[in-house]
Formats: sequence, C-alpha cells, structure tokens
Amino acid sequence: MELACLDLEGVLIPEIWIAFAEKTGIPELRATTRDIPDYDVLMKQRLKLLDEHGYGLADIQAVIETLDPLPGAVEFVEWLRERFQLVILSDTFYEFARPLMKKLGDPTLFCHKLVTDDSGRVVDYTLRQKDPKRMSVKAFHSLNYYVIAAGDSYNDTTMLSEADAGILFHAPDNVIREFPQFPAVHTYDDLRQEFLKASQTVKA
Ligand SMILES: [Mg+2]
Repeated sequence: MELACLDLEGVLIPEIWIAFAEKTGIPELRATTRDIPDYDVLMKQRLKLLDEHGYGLADIQAVIETLDPLPGAVEFVEWLRERFQLVILSDTFYEFARPLMKKLGDPTLFCHKLVTDDSGRVVDYTLRQKDPKRMSVKAFHSLNYYVIAAGDSYNDTTMLSEADAGILFHAPDNVIREFPQFPAVHTYDDLRQEFLKASQTVKA
C-alpha cells in the first residue's frame, strides 16, 4: 500500500503569512522563522499583530479566501489522488488552511489548531505534537504503508528522511545543496515523474 505525503505551503499553495501580509498591507507579518528562529516568539508576534489590526478569525479567513492554489496544483492533487492515498502534512493551522483546502478538493490534512475566544479573536495556538511530519510518516509505517513524500523546505527534511522516498519540490538552492540525497524538481510534471519512479506499484 502506498501513501503520498505532501507539504502544503510552497508546494500546493502560496506561503499563507506572506500572501496575507501582502493582501492586508501589514509588512511585519512577512517575518518567518528565518527572521525569528523561535517559532513560539514568532507566532505570538503574529497573533499580536492580527489583534492590533483588528483581525478576528472570520476576517482572516475572508482574506485567505481571496488566495488561490499555485497554478497547476489542483490538477496535480487530482492526478495524485487517482494513484495514491494522499495525506497533506503541514505546519499551518486548520482555520487558516480551510478556504484553500476547499479549492484543492479537500484532501486529508494533518496540521495544527488555533484557539479563539467567543468573539472570534485568535488568542493562542496548539501544536499537535513535536516534529509532526516525521511522526506522521513513522505512524504510517506502523500501519504498513510505503510512503513517498515531497516538500520544499527545512521543516520537511525530517519527513523526507523518514519516508521510503523523499522529493524536494520548489526548494531554494541552499536546501537543495544541503540535502543532495533527495531528487529536486521544480515543475508538477517533473514531480509526477518522481512519484512514478518512487512508486513500486503505479506504472507510468
Ligand atoms: Mg512548505
């Protein structure tokens, strides 16, 4: 049995915080773990900024509703789901991803959760577990799945290592250089080919 695991942001949809910063004109929201390496500090700052600009969950979702999956992503997901069981492993939050997941045909998503109060204000967040992408692949192995995984960034590399086959997609040059053990491709057509190559049962 074969399972495809895909990262979400940078692979199927734009980086949500960056796209949101552009749509709302709040440049401080562009900060990523490259600027603030401590994820908790970064998230607390993001939530504070949302609050200061008066964005509750409904407003955030309305902005995210205007974003679209990357060109070709919808067709790629369809292609993949006809051949593999697909699970998206992401470090985003269900509440943010929801509008974009709908546009992708609602594939299965494992990610984190936001905490909101009665007025819809985002007050906190809950990470599902530590190193969730790797732990998910481990769990799928315990269920006897052969796992082929693809992602674009550092937070995907433990998932790619744990998988039976790992593929870098849309990865920046520094990640490709640091992880030469993974094939690196940049178009959905090439990614389809890598999935077919890695598969033990699906034939081109
Ligand atoms: Mg990503």
